[in-house]
Amino acid sequence: MKILFIDMDNVLVDFRSAFQYIDKPMLEKNKDNLDDIDGIFSLMKPMPGAIEAYHFLSEHFDTYILSTAPWNNPSAWIDKLLWVKKYLPDVAYKRLIITHHKNLCRGDYLIDDRRKNGVDKFKGEHIHFETERFPDWKAVLEYLCENEGIKHHK
Ligand SMILES: [Mg+2]
Repeated sequence: MKILFIDMDNVLVDFRSAFQYIDKPMLEKNKDNLDDIDGIFSLMKPMPGAIEAYHFLSEHFDTYILSTAPWNNPSAWIDKLLWVKKYLPDVAYKRLIITHHKNLCRGDYLIDDRRKNGVDKFKGEHIHFETERFPDWKAVLEYLCENEGIKHHK
């Protein structure tokens, strides 16, 4: 099985979905580093189609979550684990990797919305999420199925 890594923020996790639960002064105060708001990662919902996509892909790939947590926000490290336990409890069991050096993970594909934290040096193929080519999970699934000859039941 080929190895597939999937990023969390804005790929599996809808980062922006937390804003509605945070009061305005707090958002304003931290507008340049929203990552650092204590507990913010516990409030986030999945991206549309992400949970279904993860389940489907884990049947066809050796699938791992590959995320970075903010260095200055320790609650984020815990909240990311709790998020995975809540939304992908069985299918991602002990498959969460948190690092600032994603390039050190060896695999075939990495689905990520950014090039930071080693993504630009990843040795496999970077599927750049939230771009014109891959605007959403539907586009990613179609591409991976096509590329790997997987039948996709729609
Ligand atoms: Mg991201």
